[in-house]
Amino acid sequence: MYDIIIAGAGPAGLSAAIYASRAGYKTLVLESEFVGGQIARTHNMENYLGFENGISGADFAEASRKQAQRFGAEICTEGITEFDLKNKTIKTSKNQYQAKAIILAMGAKPRKLGLEKENEFEGAGISYCATCDGAFFKKRDVVVIGGGDTALEDAVYLSAIANKVYVVHRRDEFRAAEILVERARKRGNIEFILNATPEKLLGDFGLEGVTLKNKLTGELFDVKADGCFVAIGNIPQTQLLREQVSLDENGYIIAGEDTKTNIDGIFAVGDIRTKHVRQVITAAADGAVAVQYITEYLRLTL
Ligand code: NAP
Repeated sequence: MYDIIIAGAGPAGLSAAIYASRAGYKTLVLESEFVGGQIARTHNMENYLGFENGISGADFAEASRKQAQRFGAEICTEGITEFDLKNKTIKTSKNQYQAKAIILAMGAKPRKLGLEKENEFEGAGISYCATCDGAFFKKRDVVVIGGGDTALEDAVYLSAIANKVYVVHRRDEFRAAEILVERARKRGNIEFILNATPEKLLGDFGLEGVTLKNKLTGELFDVKADGCFVAIGNIPQTQLLREQVSLDENGYIIAGEDTKTNIDGIFAVGDIRTKHVRQVITAAADGAVAVQYITEYLRLTL
């Protein structure tokens, strides 16, 4: 029996693990993929407190993992197959675990375009991670789809590697921070294609281009590219939680700034919960907050 099980080892989960283990709780972190979550894919995190020149997502994740383990948190790479939140039990591919309190920190995963050949071309031109796959497109032409922070950051990152970067966005205004849009505008090899949506992925054995549709005129046109980086937001990883905890209409766990869900002893932190600002720093804050409220919960209930 653990005091606290944390499902997910992104910044929110690792922050919770640091606070929980440092407070003396017997803490287990379960992660199905890799430590760091989405931030591990980020080339350079520039806006986290304390890193004057930024830090790579991978380095940040690794340092956070070591910090949590230093205080005694156990971190296991095991895919979760089932939650029983009422009984505070989690089944993985290898084991079954129980705790006095559970922190849900599984985050979100990249949303797909939903186009034919998208899955087939993953690794053959289609990518959801510029930092991971950008190097394969040296001096090639690539497309970035999306108008948020991720898309604009990816475009700037790729512009240093690729020959040409097309940023395809469905509106003519960007959701991304102005500083990122400005940075992209200053790059000579980034071209914006606005009011456009991808309609078809071209190529037989790998990506050769994308057919786009001008949303204003309905016109279809092709852009030749060897790579297409999809950055159109994320989907919360709550598929295993349906019917067990209250979710909003987009699948995020309903929890306020106190990270409390509708079930006693179950907390939700980071990108998986309803919140306005999804940043590493707000995810990390959630981890600390959850442990504070768990302390209160354990004092009152046990
Ligand atoms: P996001 O903010 O949700 O932006 C998604 C973008 O994709 C939007 O521009 C959206 O268009 C577009 N889009 C959504 N569905 C689409 C579809 N089916 N077809 C075409 N376009 C579609 O996602 P994100 O950029 O990944 O960012 C996620 C969170 O992480 C945000 O809170 C962001 O601020 C944060 N983040 C921060 C940083 C940083 O601070 N350095 C870096 C990366 C991410 P519309 O605008 O028209 O809705």
